[in-house]
Amino acid sequence: AFLDRIAAVDEKVHAFLHVDAEGALATARAVDADRAAGKPLGPLAGVPIAVKDIVVTKGMPTTAASKMLENWIPPYDATIVTRIKAARMPILGKTNLDEFAMGSSTEYSAFGATRNPWDLKRIPGGSGGGSAAAVAAGMAPLAIGTDTGGSIRQPGAVTGTVGGKPTYGANSRYGLIAFSSSLDTPGPVARTMLDAALLHEVIAGHDPLDSTSIPQDPAPVVAAAREGLTGDLSGVKLGVVTQFAAGEGAEPGVIAAYQTGVEALAKLGADIVEVSCPHFEYALPAYYLIAPSECSSNLARFDSVRYGLRVGDDGVRSLEEVMAATREAGFGQEVKRRIMLGTYALSSGYVDEFYGQAQKVRTLITRDFEAAFNEVDALISPTTPFTAFEFGARTADPYQMYLADLYTIPSNLSGGPAVSVPVGLSDGLPAGLQVMAPTLRDDVAYRVGAALE
Ligand code: GLN
Repeated sequence: AFLDRIAAVDEKVHAFLHVDAEGALATARAVDADRAAGKPLGPLAGVPIAVKDIVVTKGMPTTAASKMLENWIPPYDATIVTRIKAARMPILGKTNLDEFAMGSSTEYSAFGATRNPWDLKRIPGGSGGGSAAAVAAGMAPLAIGTDTGGSIRQPGAVTGTVGGKPTYGANSRYGLIAFSSSLDTPGPVARTMLDAALLHEVIAGHDPLDSTSIPQDPAPVVAAAREGLTGDLSGVKLGVVTQFAAGEGAEPGVIAAYQTGVEALAKLGADIVEVSCPHFEYALPAYYLIAPSECSSNLARFDSVRYGLRVGDDGVRSLEEVMAATREAGFGQEVKRRIMLGTYALSSGYVDEFYGQAQKVRTLITRDFEAAFNEVDALISPTTPFTAFEFGARTADPYQMYLADLYTIPSNLSGGPAVSVPVGLSDGLPAGLQVMAPTLRDDVAYRVGAALE
């Protein structure tokens, strides 16, 4: 049914870069056979899934939506893909994104933008717009995203789906094409918090192949989502972030939708207080130094020698010329902008002033969270300041695009978990409410998010 739906609507939405109908059907049939034979199966066995095309899949093209990797077929699976396969979930295919996950609209995909199923003239968010649009349009019941600065949550908010960024280190990064290694976190995209929780428990857990993976059992998010669904939040204390409540720079409709969410949470028994996080306003500038710095280092591997695109290799040009020609042709403009920004921020003489300073700000933001969580169980805010915008509206000025991440970035910098839940419409377009919880307390975010559904 999902493959039929993809065949019927993806021509318009363009959520997928690759569809593996045969592979998905083979897994589904094998699960059917095992079910008929009475073999024990996990809760998501046979439930199809779409995977963001920055996560490597053995034998299946993985492009990161870049010309640099246009014809690359990985020889191995990411750990989370190994876990998805062990859970017997048919993989429908790979979803579109902004090139190397840098962007908030999928307009920076080298293979054409994804359209928002709510309005095809509008963006589906980014970078994981393909995963969110696939779930929103009924082409997949579940999908994988990766969240470095908001790329699971912001697409969730603007497509009316649920997105969860787990605690950094709770889910393995092994086999994620690296963007910003101290921030990248894979997580679930779904229609409901319970669905997201079921997927979270499939992919989470310690992985010795990832040096930043936390050697600890994943938080019990499925039980927490079920508890949330009882609709009782009495005894739960939620903090409205003062700096984000004013909605400066946010669309009034988004703030209004968010307010209805806050009122709903109060009706369910939550105690709502205001909490000041004075350094959150510096999160965006700190992120746009840290993420490009790490990206400039990570993307150095695309050197035209080891794998990926190679341009001008006719035997008459120098190695340096081949590398330069390849990187010129292989990377899009946003990726180049980040590599230049990051190289500058890390260069000798500037590293303390830019990268070092941003790392200090990161510590202050983490301390804001710690102080807040002495007072409350979780923090809430809108997920993103605006609903889905029209194509081209924010590409001329990069800063306008970066603003999409205003509310999502603090949790990336601290490493704590955060989820986005649909919270009604603004002018007919979905808006999201974000729940941010303490590090390793993903269950708290899932409980509050599920209560709101
Ligand atoms: N929009 C942010 C950026 O462009 C976030 C990206 C992400 O989370 N992968 O960097």
